[in-house]
Order: sequence, then C-alpha cells, then structure tokens
Amino acid sequence: VTIAAHEDLRRRLAEFFQARRCFLFAKGRVGLYAGLRAMGLPPGSSVLMPGYTCMVVPSAVQHVGLTATYVDIDPKTYNIQPSLLDAVAAEPSALIVQHTYGIPCAMAAIERWTAPRRIPIIEDCCHSFGTTIDGRLCGTFGRFAFLSGQWNKPFSTGLGGMLVVNDPALADAVEQLVERELAQPSRRANLVLRCQIAAHDFFVRPTTAMRLALAYRALNRLGMVKGSSSSKELGGLMPADYFTAMAPCQIRRGLREMARIDQNIRHRTEMTAFYHGELSRIGFAPLDVPGVERMPLLRYPVRVANKWDLLRLAIRRAVEIGSWFERPLHPRKTRHEDFGYEEGMCPEAERAAREVVNLPTHLRVSRRTAEHALEFLRRYAEPAGK
Ligand SMILES: *Cc1c(COP(=O)(O)O)cnc(C)c1O
Repeated sequence: VTIAAHEDLRRRLAEFFQARRCFLFAKGRVGLYAGLRAMGLPPGSSVLMPGYTCMVVPSAVQHVGLTATYVDIDPKTYNIQPSLLDAVAAEPSALIVQHTYGIPCAMAAIERWTAPRRIPIIEDCCHSFGTTIDGRLCGTFGRFAFLSGQWNKPFSTGLGGMLVVNDPALADAVEQLVERELAQPSRRANLVLRCQIAAHDFFVRPTTAMRLALAYRALNRLGMVKGSSSSKELGGLMPADYFTAMAPCQIRRGLREMARIDQNIRHRTEMTAFYHGELSRIGFAPLDVPGVERMPLLRYPVRVANKWDLLRLAIRRAVEIGSWFERPLHPRKTRHEDFGYEEGMCPEAERAAREVVNLPTHLRVSRRTAEHALEFLRRYAEPAGK
C-alpha cells in the first residue's frame, strides 16, 4: 500500500510539472540538496539566488560544498532583479530563481542572461504551484525544480519536500543518490508527523492560525514537535537526519492535496483577484505586476510602515496576516554571517523584510475572512512610504 501510494504521488507530481521524474523528501531543502549533489557542480563555486529567501536555501547550497551569492530583488515582484546579474563579480555555476509569493520571475530576461553563459537554472517553486508565465508553468524552466510541503505552502504534505527533474541524465543521477544514501524516516518520526498533521487539519483556521503558530514554535523549542529548522540548522550545520525520505503519512496527505489541486488553484486565483481589486480602495498599493489578478498567489504581499506592531495586534485580534520574509534569509534568528550575507548586500530585500506583510489565499480563507483581514489593514496598518 505504501509503495503504491509513494509511486502514485511521484507520478502525479511529475505529470503536473511535465517532468520526467519526481522524488519525495522530508523537506523541500532536501530536494534542493539532492538536485545540487546530482548536478556535480565545481566544488566551492558560486550559486546565485535572491537575497530574500529562506535560510534553508543557502544552507542546502553550503551542505553540498558550494557558495551562496545573493542578488537583490525587484521591489515590484520580490523576485531576483535580472538587471543586477551583470554586476555579479563571482562566476556562477548555477542560478536559483524563486517565484516569491507565487509571482513568476522575469524568465525571459533571466534566460537571455543565462543561455549564452550556459548557466543552469534551478527553480524554487516552494511558493508557486500552478503559476504560469506567458502560458508556461513555473517549474518547467529549470534543470530541476524543488517544492516544499511545509504547512503554509501551496501543496502541503505537513512538512515534506518534492524534487521534479526533467533532464533524464540528472534524474538518473538523483535516483542513484537516493538509492545509495536516502534514509527512511523512523516509525517514531512518522507517528509524530501523523499526530501533527491530524492536529493541524483539525485546529488550524484563519482565526486560530496566528496563536497556534506561536504555540507550535514554543513546542518546537521544547523538542516536542517537529519544526522547520533546528537552532543547529540556523547556524549552518547539517542535522544527522537531513537526507531523509518523505514519511508515509505525509505521502497520504500529499495524495489528498493532489485530489483537490484544481480547487486549490482556482480558490487562490479568486482570492488573489479579490485582494487585488480591494486594496487600492482601502488606500494600499496593489501589486504592480501585469496579469497578477489571474495568478494563484500563495500570499498577497502588502507593504506597511508599522509591520511589527501590526503583527502583534493581528495575533491579539486573531487575524491571519503572514510575515515572510522577516530578514533577507528568513527567519529572524538566522545567523546571516554564517551564510555569507552581509548587511547592505540587498537593500531592496532588506526594505521588503521590514515592510511586507501578506494576506492568505488558502482554501480555508473565505470571502468573509478576507474582508475581515482587509478591514483590519484599513484600520490599523499604515501604508509604507515611498
Ligand atoms: C519554505 C521554503 C523553502 C524550504 O522549504 P522546507 O520544506 O522547509 O525545506 C525554500 N524556499 C522558499 C522560498 C520557501 O518559502
């Protein structure tokens, strides 16, 4: 039963992303790690990425023995700014594009830069499941794409990660690596995850999300639940159980997500359009991205001048407002110097980290909860200055 479910989820995800093969892991970062190792890039060489990401992205790069090099973002799209690529001093061996919040990167401009230099593209699709650009699906541009199944991602396996590979030789290399080294989760780990998934699906609502997230972080610090990153990882060290497969309970959750993926994408698209239409009415700038109202965003970003006060109030008022990323290399506790990020490297990313909060689009957000969140913004948020 488990093997059949495992193969079923792999096949469906590969089909969705028009990829040759899909691999399932304990987390999204592990998919990136596996893909990078299989590529066999020159040791120590530089991998470009936006300086507005999760610390697990540069840490996976470092675990493979490569160097993370940061490029600032376009303040309108929150994605890597193609016009800055020419100024990069390092000679990169790969480029990670991240479709932040589900907003697609400027792929035409990026490919114009990478193609003549033969620099392979890797796609971070942790926010983009079903986003297209010029009719082409995000996740089909790169040598491989990786996705996170973490709680708040568009395709959640309750933590978990996916790697989709198009290149047949690269798919074979990943297959060999997986056969040789990938650990299976322990029965205890599966049980803990199973309880967490059940608790999450039962308790988490837009009105409870903020407080439960705080409780989850507290339990994680006490070692009572599986969290996203240990304190060891925040300092750049690789945990012993890093290279682990997706657990059976996560695979089952993934199959349930797959069964309603069209509904999920449709709902996110509708919520994106709703926020997009309403924001200017309440005095906030909607996204300046052509066609965004027809995209299934993961979260709708809004710039405010009083981010930290607003988030504290959102917890008290039980309004689901998100905050990614809180530093250039999320989360706030990341020791940035351990990942080669120095203050001032990416000013637009730093400004976005100070200003951006985001509105949820997931299936549990109804029109009414969305109106409630907008009303909360209208009353308590100050639009960010120019
Ligand atoms: C969540 C996230 C990841 C990592 O996902 P994990 O499953 O926690 O490893 C990577 N990149 C981005 C942009 C993310 O938001």
